[in-house]
Amino acid sequence: MISDEVKMQVGVYRFRCDICGGEAEEPAMHPYHYGALLLRAGSNEYAILDTLQIEVADEVSELLHEALPKLKHKSRESAALFQAIAGWVCCDTSPDGKPYKIVGDPYCPTCECVSELWTRDDAPPVRMIDLPIATHTIWNRLAPEEKEQKLLSALGISDR
Ligand SMILES: [Zn+2]
Repeated sequence: MISDEVKMQVGVYRFRCDICGGEAEEPAMHPYHYGALLLRAGSNEYAILDTLQIEVADEVSELLHEALPKLKHKSRESAALFQAIAGWVCCDTSPDGKPYKIVGDPYCPTCECVSELWTRDDAPPVRMIDLPIATHTIWNRLAPEEKEQKLLSALGISDR
């Protein structure tokens, strides 16, 4: 069992938004965090989805392959789809009650966009912060059909 007390230490890096030129600091994963994905809810609540520690990640991947069998041997597409839906599908909401999304690009507080165009300098992290590991209490309580339904609705597929 993973309790909400579990935390992971993550670096906060400075980046520049190439759209507005604004600078901001944002947590980012490092390659040594293999298997751990950064989650963000709203603009400033962060958590970690540790795909190596939880059976939930395998369960979501399996359901994904059942729903879309053609994906099974396309690992890049599978990973991209997993990243697009897993934060919402299997993680409990943030302390503010917002759904998590796996973070690809940083959020710029100046122009309030999630920008694909950004530059991170090579400097070491500005500081280290402890982020909570996401919990999966709601997901774990769902019946198998409910899990399937939730996944299908995240994919925009309804079987009705
Ligand atoms: Zn910006």
